Amino acid sequence: MALAFDEYGRPFIILREQESKTRLRGLDAQKANIAAGRAVARILKTSLGPKGMDKMLQSPDGEVIITNDGATILEQMDVDNQIAKLMVELSRSQDYEIGDGTTGVVVMAGALLEQAEKLLERGIHPLRVAEGYEMASRIAFEHLEKISQKYEFSADNIEPLVQTCMTTLSSKIVNRCKRTLAEIAVKAVLAVADLERKDVNLDMIKVEGKVGGKLEDTELIYGIMVDKDMSHPQMPKRIEDAKIAILTCPFEPPKPKTKHKVDIDSVEKFQTLRQQEVKYFDEMVQKCKDVGATLVICQWGFDDEANHLLMHRNLPAVRWVGGVELELIAIATGGRIVPRFQELTPEKLGKAGVVREKSFGTTKDRMLYIERCANSRAVTIFIRGGNKMMIEETKRSLHDALCVARNLIRNNSIVYGGGSAEISCSVAVEAAADRYPGVEQYAIRSFAQALDHLPLALAENSGLPPIDTLTAVKAQQIKENNPFCGIDCNDVGTTNMKEQNVFETLIGKQQQILLATQVVKMILKIDDVISPTDY
Ligand code: ADP
Ligand code: MG
Repeated sequence: MALAFDEYGRPFIILREQESKTRLRGLDAQKANIAAGRAVARILKTSLGPKGMDKMLQSPDGEVIITNDGATILEQMDVDNQIAKLMVELSRSQDYEIGDGTTGVVVMAGALLEQAEKLLERGIHPLRVAEGYEMASRIAFEHLEKISQKYEFSADNIEPLVQTCMTTLSSKIVNRCKRTLAEIAVKAVLAVADLERKDVNLDMIKVEGKVGGKLEDTELIYGIMVDKDMSHPQMPKRIEDAKIAILTCPFEPPKPKTKHKVDIDSVEKFQTLRQQEVKYFDEMVQKCKDVGATLVICQWGFDDEANHLLMHRNLPAVRWVGGVELELIAIATGGRIVPRFQELTPEKLGKAGVVREKSFGTTKDRMLYIERCANSRAVTIFIRGGNKMMIEETKRSLHDALCVARNLIRNNSIVYGGGSAEISCSVAVEAAADRYPGVEQYAIRSFAQALDHLPLALAENSGLPPIDTLTAVKAQQIKENNPFCGIDCNDVGTTNMKEQNVFETLIGKQQQILLATQVVKMILKIDDVISPTDY
């Protein structure tokens, strides 16, 4: 494509290979784009809320993913429409920034697009719609702040945090164990949080999974875990106050590396050689003991004889530990990796409160837990579950919960969920529309209607009659002047989300509204789509 000018200076576009391109302009372009965006939103709509459906996605190489997480669903879908890709990006940015609310943001954007289409059909200029949406989103943003509440919690009273994480987890496949998982998530976040600076480094939380056991067996480890075991089955399985020597040099009698020839032609000679070897190795063990090591973690292997000797001399050891894990252990325990045996000194030992080996099921699977490490507050969440899909989905759900806990530590404002915040915003935006004399007021009203789509979807997914439920709840909100009324998805018997303990973070909700508005504005402003036709 090229832009050219004719002799009067009027611009025109040259489409190369004219017939192989399609071009949509004006209202047609906008309608096509809106349709694409709405198609994506429609897919996610049924996954919203505690009674939302899950999606099963199969990748080209046959791997199956079952998930309820909006960002993951879109990520795995092979979308090739450009506008649909914008919706994928939308969900992803909510995921990056907030972590939760990835389905809601797309549903919101879809609703805004749907409303916009009606406005465009009535002849309102897309820019007017965009401006109206922008104003409305600001009203909603500020209204959210007004209805938000501060949520007090401390390191001793984690219950409020747990409740919020439970709301996040209640809409996931893992909601059977939401209490356990929410507690784990909160404890993990608090373990690495800096409450004074209100900051949390989620990188310090490692999430590992192993197939087997029950979801309830998922545990939080205050330390790190390595997929290794003690080199000898009779070595102690538990070492308190471990001092760890981390070696990257061979831990056995020296082996001739280049070609040597040792002639052994008598029993005596053999005996001497053997004794020599044992003595050499004995000295190595003694050296480790002298510097105070109670555990040796070695990158190399050692042979059975060395193993036997180590057991005899009461020095537990772990062999064949990979480089990455070795580094992790060194960082966490504050030890130094020792590349030459001679350099081993007491200062180079890593320290950990307890090192223990744990075995699983009937398999020979064993893991090494290194807990209460000296240097680092890093924690590990160890997920158990029936199959790989379950573990992967639990990882994703925990990610949401961890993010929510982190967001609350950063900013402890919350709004109530179950669509209550959206309904309240909708009422506020609707009321504000009258104050605007221009055409924008139509867009502002449409924005209010779009906000209703979230509670509508929640009601629909829970098997309630959507419009009836929404109108009843909205009327109740206005009558009681109570912004906490939402959709009673789980049939608890009250619409008051405060009583149901269903809440979400304020920043999460605000971000949803801002991001959705931004994307919709962007889509509305496109009035010319030039693309190659299918080949
Ligand atoms: P997202 O990916 O957007 O977080 P979810 O599937 O997690 O989507 O659904 C979140 C929505 O479900 C929120 O609007 C939240 O308020 C609502 N929700 C969660 N738990 C409940 C509940 N127990 N009762 C009513 N609404 C709930
Ligand atoms: Mg969620």
